[in-house]
Amino acid sequence: FAQLREGLSRTSNALTENLSAVLTKEKLDEDTLDDLEDVLIRADLGVEMAERVRSIIAKNRYDRGASADAVRQVLGDEVTKVLDPVAQPFPAMAEKPFVWLVVGVNGTGKTTTIGKLAHRFETQGKKVTLAAADTFRAAAIDQLKIWGERVNAPVVAHDVGSDPAGVAYDGLKRAQETNADVLMIDTAGRLQNKSDLMDELAKIVRVLKKLEPEAPHGVLLVLDATTGQNALNQVELFQQVAGVTGLVVTKLDGTARGGILVAIAERFGLPVHAIGVGEGIDDLESFDAEDFARAIAG
Ligand code: GDP
Repeated sequence: FAQLREGLSRTSNALTENLSAVLTKEKLDEDTLDDLEDVLIRADLGVEMAERVRSIIAKNRYDRGASADAVRQVLGDEVTKVLDPVAQPFPAMAEKPFVWLVVGVNGTGKTTTIGKLAHRFETQGKKVTLAAADTFRAAAIDQLKIWGERVNAPVVAHDVGSDPAGVAYDGLKRAQETNADVLMIDTAGRLQNKSDLMDELAKIVRVLKKLEPEAPHGVLLVLDATTGQNALNQVELFQQVAGVTGLVVTKLDGTARGGILVAIAERFGLPVHAIGVGEGIDDLESFDAEDFARAIAG
């Protein structure tokens, strides 16, 4: 929790400062309430959350004025309510091999998250195989191989420019033949062309189903918190092209935009399985609604 609080300190400090700056009058008036709502929206928490907190404060505090502390208390409670239903651990992964398709825009932290997760699953006694189906970037393939060495997991990779679906197919075949518990498939997240992205992911899914009709068992979308409102568009896009089953939100260390996770939860209600709080192998934390809410609200 200390690491989370430290990581989210930029989000909560900015919020506290901005709240103190607008809550200067003895009594609340509509202008002050407008400013309060603005502060919350600018903290990326989403319009719904901002309106709700405003109306609670207005109802309870109108004749008394409100301190930043009082607002933070209300905010903490409201954020907890929104995050509680989405804070869900990873599924038990009873299917063998359990196939994860890992999707997201390039640079959000897909490969790193796969490495961290492989490590976590292995410490739970699971045997993990990785597949480098982002075949467009040589660096992505290399990066996954480095993680594979670090966590001692085999990496199935083809040459740059080869068919991503072929890599996914070989990855699943290898996982089946070697009796792996979990297969994690890294994919390319080029946004230049939505129909290309859709075709590519659809083809990967199609070939996986030739070997295992239920695959993929999970579609994990990796989102970068520092992209703020953009992350909302990314959820929408990947929902359409890949049918997301769960989220990991990365780079929550040292960003002032941690509030975006609340807006995502409110808008989509997708499970958040874990959060990324650094570049290291252990910098992946389970997602706890109350801890997160209190870390943001300060
Ligand atoms: P990909 O293109 O989606 O596969 O992204 P990468 O996994 O290559 O990550 C892009 C950059 O973000 C790398 O420099 C990672 O070390 C960094 N990164 C990934 N996750 C986190 C995180 O939780 N916190 C921080 N600070 N950096 C991260």
